[in-house]
Amino acid sequence: MNWSERDKKHIWHPFTHLKTAVDPIRITKAEGLYLYDDKGSKIMDAISSWWVNLHGHSHPYISKKVSEQLFSFEHIPFADFTHQPAIELAERLLGHLPNNQSKIFYSDNGSTAVEVALKMTLQYWHNKGEPKNTFIALENAYHGDTFGGMSVGARNVFNSAFENQLFNVAHIPIPTKENLEQIKEVIGQWKENHSIAGFIFEPLVQGAAGMMMYDGETLDELIAFCKQNEIITIADEVMTGFGRTGKFFATDHLNNKPDIIGLSKGLTGGYLPLGVTSCAQFIYDAYISDDKTKTFFHGHSYTANATACAAALASLDLMEKRETLDQIQMIEKEHLSFLKEIKDHKACKDIRVKGTILAIELKTEGETHYLNTISEKINSYFLNKGILLRPLGNVFYVLPPYCITKDELQYIYKNIKEFLNL
Ligand SMILES: *Cc1c(COP(=O)(O)O)cnc(C)c1O
Repeated sequence: MNWSERDKKHIWHPFTHLKTAVDPIRITKAEGLYLYDDKGSKIMDAISSWWVNLHGHSHPYISKKVSEQLFSFEHIPFADFTHQPAIELAERLLGHLPNNQSKIFYSDNGSTAVEVALKMTLQYWHNKGEPKNTFIALENAYHGDTFGGMSVGARNVFNSAFENQLFNVAHIPIPTKENLEQIKEVIGQWKENHSIAGFIFEPLVQGAAGMMMYDGETLDELIAFCKQNEIITIADEVMTGFGRTGKFFATDHLNNKPDIIGLSKGLTGGYLPLGVTSCAQFIYDAYISDDKTKTFFHGHSYTANATACAAALASLDLMEKRETLDQIQMIEKEHLSFLKEIKDHKACKDIRVKGTILAIELKTEGETHYLNTISEKINSYFLNKGILLRPLGNVFYVLPPYCITKDELQYIYKNIKEFLNL
């Protein structure tokens, strides 16, 4: 049997329609911006391997730091024990996170970072003896594939099989200047009938929804409103963190800071799975009690994995370099001038840029999102040109690692233009 046959015989791939799936490409090496397949072709990783990679693949510095950690120890349990990489990472993350953040809770992926945030919020109210149960979330939201994450996410084909098992959530539209007052009114009414525990949102960019972008100013006002109304605010920065929106965190664009923040994806530079949920001191304080039932009974076997923490520290070293900031600004500038160039293209419904993310929404007929067959066409067109641009339905996007050069960006833009003119 060849590799494809062996793969097919034993493996079930994620988000994959089993009946129509083409054979997956077998990658044998990855370096910098490029993936190399078993036939020796190279593919530009223009989507940062599902938004996780920050500095390129097989980065010598991160690889060295990870391997050094492996030679002292790889992983230990994190209750009753601690270690230097986890402590240093918490300190350094808190240095970058908004000032109101004071504690770091580790888990091992984006969905668990969200799950922890939701449970932390619900038990906060429980511990205070004022149980509140309802979450507010944004329409089109994506917060992961676990049940809590699915519940606060948009209801769509991704979770329709589980609809009856999802808990009730009040979904609101993306806040705009036009609808903000109305949203506040609706929340006010809900507050009377339900007990609202928290508001969870992806700040500024809703990734899985199709790189939908929205204004931070109105979100800022809504956060302030939630604070006045004792609604805990949770920013899911799993995708937006670590420079994607042009600033270190998307919440850096806001004046009002969320009470809880979830991180994962770029956290380890795309090396190893790791999740972080940070919170403000007042949340943590609600768990300090003589009463043992007020303990936060949550943890994962791989909580604060030392190797993953070492990767995150090395990735942070690179993030903090002037050159990385310059690269982030360069990518944004190039994206913006490309946007100007193709802004009125007849094939496009919308083109948008936020920080290092460029998204192109195509005009289509029929299904506009995931089930649209156009996504397969886009995918294979660009793969043939040696560019990985796996789209989200009729939206395709460039979200590159920060090691990309101007020339490489221009190569991608050139191919996008050719594709649009087909
Ligand atoms: C990817 C993503 C998640 C889920 O993270 P996983 O590591 O894939 O579980 C949650 N929230 C947002 C905003 C994401 O983009």
